[in-house]
Amino acid sequence: MTDRVVLTHATLVDGTGAEPRPDMTVVVEGEYISEVGPSGTISGAPGDLVHDLRGATLLPGLIDCHVHLRANAAARPADVHLWNMVNSAETQTLHALANARTALYSGFTTVRDMAGSRLEAAVRDAIGARVLDGARVVAAGLVGMTAGHGDMFCPATMDERRMWAPADGVDECRKRVREYARLGMDLIKICTSGGTLSAGDRTEWRNYTLAEVDTIVDEAHALGLRVAAHAHTRAGIETALTAGVDTLEHGSELDERLVERMLEQGTALCPTLSISEFMVERGRERGLAPEQLDKARALRERRLESVRLAYRSGVRLIAGTDSSNTVRFGAHARELQLLHQEIGLSPLEALTAATSAAAEALGLGERTGVVAPGRWADLLVVDGDPVRDLGVLSEPGRLRAVFQGGREYAPAVPVALVTP
Ligand SMILES: [Zn+2]
Repeated sequence: MTDRVVLTHATLVDGTGAEPRPDMTVVVEGEYISEVGPSGTISGAPGDLVHDLRGATLLPGLIDCHVHLRANAAARPADVHLWNMVNSAETQTLHALANARTALYSGFTTVRDMAGSRLEAAVRDAIGARVLDGARVVAAGLVGMTAGHGDMFCPATMDERRMWAPADGVDECRKRVREYARLGMDLIKICTSGGTLSAGDRTEWRNYTLAEVDTIVDEAHALGLRVAAHAHTRAGIETALTAGVDTLEHGSELDERLVERMLEQGTALCPTLSISEFMVERGRERGLAPEQLDKARALRERRLESVRLAYRSGVRLIAGTDSSNTVRFGAHARELQLLHQEIGLSPLEALTAATSAAAEALGLGERTGVVAPGRWADLLVVDGDPVRDLGVLSEPGRLRAVFQGGREYAPAVPVALVTP
């Protein structure tokens, strides 16, 4: 007896960017992929569980590189800013778990949480131990300054229960990184410019001096943690690149010189187009203040130009939605369509941005993101051809199965119900 699952007669998109291969077979043994080859070259064994996948495409489990799990998961939308303030840590944890499960059922087997702390680490560990179902979580600890982008999500008058205690000056920054290392966070997130959704600050505000960012990156790298930097402005991007961050989030004001530096340093760009679209299309009805809508509109066009320049120049793009209290969990595949429609990536390139490129940027390049022997069995079975039409990834009923670490999940939630 074996516990092999044989997925046969499928069109395979392997995540490397290679052209789809028809009539392929993938064998799953335990948590891993054990064999990949043309159907007919792989022999069956007694006890194999065989799925005939004619008409379907098999691809790696997708990765959303930018989410905020600590967000309202209920069907009824909640206030974008107040939800975290008025709900207990226990409630937020339960919603975070539900959001991770929604991501998994919509085909995203791994997510990177970009503003985590103890809560996200607990969610990650419960899912990792298979206590509860959900996308695998890679959790960043947020190090942010007083009046920084993260800090400005909390009203200024609220002294207690701020979501993240600010760290100011090189000594506090270094200490905060060490605290996150002690907590077992997977990477460090910083902001080097203001944001759009935070209230009261301006996008062009400097977040951290170069000395502080240098210290954070130095300490994080010394402790084996990568650093992701939220940066909209040219100055913010420059600071982040000078300090040597590993991924750039948003990157709304790139120019040729900055793109050149990203190429030299191998910095990946996570443009988060979904959140820009959301804020422009739905921000008003979701109660965003006029100042935030103005910031969002101004930023959207600049960001598209900036990301197009990065793409044309060969910067590695990775897919991230910024799913949170704004963009609902479950609509992650929309980012791939936006990368295709707005930036010009081919569907295959957009799929790579959510598979092998994403896995490498998260330090999981040897584990997931590619369908190959020895990798985790993170796989999707989709009816139809996402290389011809990325829309099938978001269509209700198209997702036939999701495998994560060899375990099969039939998507219980129709994807349409959880799109915004
Ligand atoms: Zn974010």
